This record gives sequence, structure tokens and C-alpha cells, in this order.
Amino acid sequence: MPEHHPLLAELNEAQRAAVAAPLAATLVLAGAGSGKTRVLTHRAAWLITEHGVSPQGLLAVTFTNKAAAEMRGRIEALLDLPGSSLWVGTFHGIAHRLLRRHWREAALPQQFQILDDDDQQRLVRKLIREQNLDEQRWVPREVQGFINREKDEGRRPKHLQDRGDPTRRELIRLYELYQKRCDVLGVVDFAELLLRCLEMIRDQPPLADFYRRRFRHVLVDEFQDTNGVQYDWVRLLCGSEGLPFVVGDDDQSIYRWRGARVENMQRYRKDFGASTFKLEQNYRSTSVILGAANQVIRLNEDRLGKELWTAAKGGEPIRLYSAFNERDEADFVLERIREHARSGLPLSAAAILYRSNAQSRAFEEALMAARIPYRVYGGLRFFERAEIKDALAYLRLCGNRNDDVSFERVVNLPTRGIGQSTLERLRSESRSTGVSLWDAALQVRPSLPARAASALGGFLALIEKMAAAMEGKDLPDQVRIGIEDSGLREHHSREKDNKGEARVENLDELVNAAAGFAPEGEDDLPPLASFLSHATLESGETQAADGRDSVQLMTLHSAKGLEFPTVFMVGLEEGLFPSERSVFDPEKLPEERRLCYVGITRAMQRLYLSHAESRRMYGRTDYRAPSRFVGELPPELIEEVRPRLSVSRPLYDPDAGQARRPSFAGSRPAAVPARPVVRPQKGEDVPYRLGARVRHVKFGEGVVIRYEGNGDNQQVQVNFERGGQKWLMCAYAKLEAV
Ligand code: ATP
Ligand code: MG
Repeated sequence: MPEHHPLLAELNEAQRAAVAAPLAATLVLAGAGSGKTRVLTHRAAWLITEHGVSPQGLLAVTFTNKAAAEMRGRIEALLDLPGSSLWVGTFHGIAHRLLRRHWREAALPQQFQILDDDDQQRLVRKLIREQNLDEQRWVPREVQGFINREKDEGRRPKHLQDRGDPTRRELIRLYELYQKRCDVLGVVDFAELLLRCLEMIRDQPPLADFYRRRFRHVLVDEFQDTNGVQYDWVRLLCGSEGLPFVVGDDDQSIYRWRGARVENMQRYRKDFGASTFKLEQNYRSTSVILGAANQVIRLNEDRLGKELWTAAKGGEPIRLYSAFNERDEADFVLERIREHARSGLPLSAAAILYRSNAQSRAFEEALMAARIPYRVYGGLRFFERAEIKDALAYLRLCGNRNDDVSFERVVNLPTRGIGQSTLERLRSESRSTGVSLWDAALQVRPSLPARAASALGGFLALIEKMAAAMEGKDLPDQVRIGIEDSGLREHHSREKDNKGEARVENLDELVNAAAGFAPEGEDDLPPLASFLSHATLESGETQAADGRDSVQLMTLHSAKGLEFPTVFMVGLEEGLFPSERSVFDPEKLPEERRLCYVGITRAMQRLYLSHAESRRMYGRTDYRAPSRFVGELPPELIEEVRPRLSVSRPLYDPDAGQARRPSFAGSRPAAVPARPVVRPQKGEDVPYRLGARVRHVKFGEGVVIRYEGNGDNQQVQVNFERGGQKWLMCAYAKLEAV
């Protein structure tokens, strides 16, 4: 093997063998951090430089936009090909791109729009209501789940049998109605992107031939998470001549709940007669972290079986913190992030990983109060904020009057006197004549009462006027027209609270996003349509980012494939992680354990674990035992954290009121003192002791329970006998010690 080839020089032997493997179907099966993604990108470069494959002849696919961007960057850097026209993307992104190019063949309108999860659910709910079905029994989210699961398996209503089950019969009927409606409206949901693209290529041999000749080399990362349609898609594109190169790790399969089939790895091996390469050396983590990961995953059965080792010896112990509640947990993380930053590492080298999006709030608040920049992936999604979706709905309606979801969203926003009875008329007209709400509005308007007719006419005229004004303008101006002429900007600027102000800022940010938008690929779509698709496809993952160095917050699911020097895995509690639904389910528990393995293996140098005794989430307080995963870790690798300075017993648990906290089945032995409250670090001046009694002119007497910040920014939380809990600025509150 040409070991001295520059592309192979920075690889180990097993990796080299995989990169330089003969031109045939190949599978790389290996554990976390063993260089799978690195091998895949090197393989792409290898094919181009050593086998003369044109960069346009490669198709590289992965699961998240972030991973795709990273992959593109790595390949371009290896080849010194910046800004190339490589086809690198997510399954959804590539399918979307193909549908845009071949909208006629896919039987879609040229300006088709994408429904995100939330829009899809609205449309399903609307259909359920139209059918006069009880929403308690036909829960929109569940019907939506049924439709998506079938689509993910490549099944249309005509492929489904009710097997004499009336519930199933109704679900199939709703699926059929839903799809018909989408086709009338010219909208496509996420699952449809893939299925539609698959059917289009499958049913049109010339297209299939064209793409098979073009993409002889399909490279797929994270193959363990492909679902039925994605597998068929790869198979179809490869045909019998293709030379796929796929990499994956069965221990990191975490999307079974969304239809992913880890069996696809075995199936691929059989279907393609793929030769298999294994990598066993981990380059990412210290041996402490790796030891913990190996130990956890060993408890799962039915693994393809592989053990990872690392040349890096030792490492810092894994630190475990038992917090009082979610705010205490956030404070702990905050303190360690400060420490991380003091050691000279960028903030972006620290990640907070949690099981569910709702957990981000406590961390966001703590980071915000400490003025530490952070970025949430998949949490507060910019393009999913209500005001942004309203603005996008106006823009979509200007491009496609038949977009009913957008029509319903903004027809009376800002309020313009179009009431429920008018809307009911439109809906029933649309139902009985099979036209869109827009066309229904044109038809029924003359027969409406004068005021309703004029209100509706005003809306129709407004959209026409906006569409005309957008004609010939560039994209940011079109977006500006969308937020201003619609009245949205003014509507929010009149809102009194500072939420209104934030909404106006977000709307302005949308204009900025449009100004910075560069359509990718070769589609010849108008920029506005291309921007709107981008907004929908992106929304699942990123926030509008201002490029500042910031702490990374994301769910464990979205952390797949990434790595960070410092990782906080938080909320390790029974019922949260593993999740409530998986605790007693022998199918789901192993998937949660794989998720835990994914989390641990994101960490390069430092790993912190935490759980809280009580947690407020979704508006209620839960008391939970530490996660079983904590107990599964080798105790010799763990160090329980005690506050470095003094510890005081909490006098008051802000969440549980004055009541005593219940005891926990899984909590620590009785010899361990009560949960400590972390006191301010050395060097910070502390005007009042925790637990001290103080008096305030207005609120009377109370007890100091928490601190935050320093110097002029220092704040103190006091539980007042009369006023309840208050945060006060120390510099101004003039508290007197009692
Ligand atoms: P995951 O399963 O989490 O997706 P992976 O198998 O794709 O992980 P990579 O992300 O490709 O692993 O590699 C993990 C880390 O190890 C990266 O920082 C990578 O640059 C580094 N690495 C991989 N192979 C080598 C090597 N031969 N020499 C030095 N560093 C390496
Ligand atoms: Mg990877």
C-alpha cells in the first residue's frame, strides 16, 4: 500500500486499508471516535486524486446539516478545492435538490413548498376536524406519526391493508386524504421529500440511468441510522454498477423510534456483497472516558461486537455532580464553563448535552445572566419562532396562493376582522369543491355579509399588492416587504412588553438572514422560493448565529458525530434519561443506552455528569432517582464533586417550599451530607452569608438563598416572608442584616 501517499500519511494501518480499498462496495464498521468520518472524507479525496473520479461523480450523504457542512469542509481542505460543486448533503437536502431539478417528473408544482413538523401537524389537525372526528381519539400528533412511519417505510395508502381493524382503516383513510390535500396544495413534508424522490427515480428509468452513471460513488456516513426509504434510495442510486462506501457503528443507532434500521448494515453487506473493514483504535477520548463508554455499552445484547482502545493513557476522572434542582445543576455547569474558559479553551469547545430540548432553558438562563454567549442547536429554532413563521407564511402565500397552511396562519394576523364564521365558510367551500382556501375565498366573497366581504377582500388585495411589489426586487427587499407591508412589524412594535421588541428584532434578523443567503446548488429557482425551502430545511437544526465564540447546547441526538474537549451530560435521572417511556420497555432501553454511549464518546478530555434531585419542567416539579447509567459506570473512574469552599446546608429548597423533600430510592448513602449549595468562589465578595436573615424596605424580612454574578452585577435571591422569592441587585437593594 502506498503508505507515503500524502493522503494516507495521517492514517493508521486499518484506516489506510479502508481508504485505499479496491473499487467495490465497502463497509467500515467501527466504534465511536475511531476515524470513520475521517476515513470517509479521505476516501472521497482518494477517489478523486488516485482514481480520476470527477468531483461531480461523488455523492456524500449524512444526517445533519452541521455534519454535512463539516464533511464538505474536510473534503475541500484535503483537495484544496474551496467552494466546489461537490454534492455533499443530508438525505433530505439531497432529495430536495433532486426534486427541485425534476419537479415535473416528480409531478410537483415548480414552487412547491416544504411543510415542517409543526405545519404538518396543523394540516393533519385541520383534516381531522373537517372529518368531524374526535381529536381526543384521533390525536393529530399520532395520526401524523402513523403517516410518517408508513412513508419512512416507503408505503403509500394503496399498499396498506386494514386487516379488519377499524382504527387502522380510519388511519389509512386519513393518510390518503392528507396526501391528496398536500398534492392539491403543492406542499411536501419531510418524509415525502425522500419517498417522492425515490419513486421519481425508480419509476423513470432514464432518470435512474442518468444518476447511476453520474454518481457511481455514493458515500454514506452514520449508516446505522438509515431507514427503509433511505436504504432503498442508496440501493436504487447505486444500481448494479455503483460502488457505495458506507461507514457506521451499530452501537450508535439512536433513531429506531423514527424508523431507522440498524439491520441495514447487515443487509447492505449481503445485498452488495460488501467487504468489511473494522477500526479499533479511538483517537478522540482519554482512556478514562473510553473505559466508561465501553463499560456502558457492554451491557447491551445483540451487538455486532467490537472493543475500542486508545493509546492515550489516563485522563481526568469523570466528575459527577448531584444537584439540588435544575438551577443548581445549571450553576454547577456555569462554574465549570468559567473554569474551562480560564484554561484558555474557546467556549465552543464546551458542550452541554441533554436528553430533551426542554432542559435547555435552565442553562440558557444561567448563561444569559452570566453574559456568556451560547448557541442552542435544535432548541429555540430561529426559523420556527412564531413571528418568523408568520412572516414566512406571508412570503409563501405571495409565491403560491394555494398554500392553505400559510393562508390559515395569517388570514387574520394582524387582526383584520375576519372571524371564525367567515373562515368556516371558506373551509366548507374548499372541502366541497376541492379548491384551495384562496380560491374558495374568491368564490364565496360576493355572498358574504358586507363587513366580512370587505375584510376578506382587503386581505386578498393585500397579498396581490405585496406580490406585485416584490416583483423584480432582490431577496432582502422582498423579505422586507413581507414583514412591513403585511403589518407584522408594526403589530409587534405596538406590543408593550419587551417580547414585542424581541420579535421585531427577530423579524429584522430575517432580513439579514435573507441578505446573507447564498442558494446552493444548480437549481434555477427564484431566490425567494429557494430561501423559503432553506428556512424549512434548516429550521430543525440551527439558530441564526452571529459567529461569536459560544458554548454549544444540544440534545444528545444532535450531538452524534461531533466531538468537544469538554462535555457536560446533564439530567441523568431515571425517567428523563433513560426516558420515562423506555424504562420498562426492553426494546427501548438498549436504544437509550446507545444514546448514553454516544454522549460519553463525544468527550475528548473532560466529561461531567450531573443529575438533580428535583426538577421543574413542563410546569411541574419532579423528584427522580439518579439514572441507572450512572450506576453502570466503573466507580473507579468517577469522582463525586464537592464544592471547593465551604458548604452550608440549604435552609430552604426553592422548589419544594418549606416542605421536606422526599427521600430517594437511588440516592446516595445516608452518610453523605445533604446536597450542598455552592457558595461564591474565593475572591468574590459576599455581602451576606447564605441563610442570613435580611430586611428590605419594601419586602420586609427574609432569608438569603442564592447568589449570582460579581461586583456591580452581583445579585442575591432572598425568600421574603411576605413577598416570596425575589432576585435583587446587591448594589441597590440596601439590604440590612437582621
Ligand atoms: P463517530 O463515531 O463519533 O462519528 P468517527 O469514527 O467518525 O466518530 P472521527 O470523527 O472521524 O471518528 O475521528 C475522531 C477524532 O479522531 C477526530 O478528531 C479525528 O481527526 C481523529 N483521528 C482519527 N483518526 C486519526 C489518526 N489516524 N490520527 C490522528 N487523529 C485521528
Ligand atoms: Mg463520524
